[in-house]
Amino acid sequence: MGKQEDFVLRALEERDVRFVRLWFTDVLGSLKSVAVAPAELEGAFEEGIGFDGSSIEGFARVFESDMLLKPDAGTFQILPWRSGDGPATARMFCDIELPDGSPSYADPRHVLKRTLGKAADQGFTFYTHPEIEFYLFKDLPGAGAEPVPVDRSGFFDHTAQSQGADFRREAITMLEAMGISVEFSHHENGPGQQEIDLRYADALSTADNIMTFRTVVREVALSQGIWASFMPKPFTTHPGSGMHTHVSLFEGDENAFYEAGSQYQLSQTARRFIAGVLVHAPELSIVTNQWVNSYKRMMFGGEAPSYICWGHNNRSAMIRVPMYKPNKGQSTRVELRTIDPACNPYLAYAAVLAAGMKGIEGGYDLPREAEDDVWSLSERERSALDITPLPKNLNDAIAIAEESELLAETLGEQVFDFLLRNKRAEWDEYRGQVSAFERDRMLPVI
Ligand code: GLU
Ligand code: MG
Ligand code: MG
Repeated sequence: MGKQEDFVLRALEERDVRFVRLWFTDVLGSLKSVAVAPAELEGAFEEGIGFDGSSIEGFARVFESDMLLKPDAGTFQILPWRSGDGPATARMFCDIELPDGSPSYADPRHVLKRTLGKAADQGFTFYTHPEIEFYLFKDLPGAGAEPVPVDRSGFFDHTAQSQGADFRREAITMLEAMGISVEFSHHENGPGQQEIDLRYADALSTADNIMTFRTVVREVALSQGIWASFMPKPFTTHPGSGMHTHVSLFEGDENAFYEAGSQYQLSQTARRFIAGVLVHAPELSIVTNQWVNSYKRMMFGGEAPSYICWGHNNRSAMIRVPMYKPNKGQSTRVELRTIDPACNPYLAYAAVLAAGMKGIEGGYDLPREAEDDVWSLSERERSALDITPLPKNLNDAIAIAEESELLAETLGEQVFDFLLRNKRAEWDEYRGQVSAFERDRMLPVI
């Protein structure tokens, strides 16, 4: 057993931990948890804890349902909302293994690790910094009802006695207690809409942190008698929630995206990475925007991208090169604005990295930057500039994903097949729904 495992075993005693929750993520990005007694952990570190994977979304075919959870000792944390002064509850993220000790190909964490490993073979570490938006509602609305936001404030508003500010303070305190650094937080544009930005970290830590973040935010909301949701577009008339992610590659301690003196201080590596993500953007949609609802966020402007292009400080562009500082140096990065907070962060980051690496390996050329507000251009002007749209709905995204070698290779056959089947079923169920929109339009006149 290694040092980290020893540290965990000691911490269990010192903190009087009674339950250890073993966390993992299904293919659609839902957090799963199984609690074990501390006495089980030594065995868990050595051999894993067995479970039946067949009822977890995307995990197993029935004939290979026995799986093992192997806790990652480096992710050990006490859960602040379950632990007052008395006995504590802790958690660790797990890797999923098959009975022969090989990694499970259905484990999204493994998909990301495998992709990070390929980038590491080329000397790169992938860093990500997510800006996570979400809504706070008075409560969970009944079926078919509109949610009621907790306030009527807007962007950066500072409101007296605001529920959002209290909420953000408590959520951030809890995140920091779990070792997750928060850089920035504010009220977003929509009523009740919030944003909390995590400090940049390697992509595996960030993906783990996003899973923790979604749990913490829901727990804090419940404790305050309100409801939090990461649904990409809960209202027709208010902006949706995105999870813009700033990305960069490092080679050792050096930011490989930075080159002094070049345009926007972007290195050749950065330019090729951006080109890779642009070229493969339609294929990535099924993981960066995986729900029927995701596509409704991306059709009205509202600072969510609809077109494939990049620009510096252009908030209508899909990839934005931020220009806050004249000399960006090690903080050079680009902001990808497609991703929404209801994605599976392991799969989304794996696919984005794989696309960027394709751009680097294939020496892709960066197209011209978009200087205008691309939403305000006509179809004709956009096509003259070679600016094409992102998939307009889940059906289009599925059709493109089906043909994608990049996705098949990055996700692995099992995750790829499951995702496509699951998303097709979601689309088929959705297109059969008769909506309020249709009834309101037709019943009065036809
Ligand atoms: N809410 C917008 C989106 O869905 C982003 C707003 C912003 O620029 O922060 O992407
Ligand atoms: Mg925002
Ligand atoms: Mg942003």
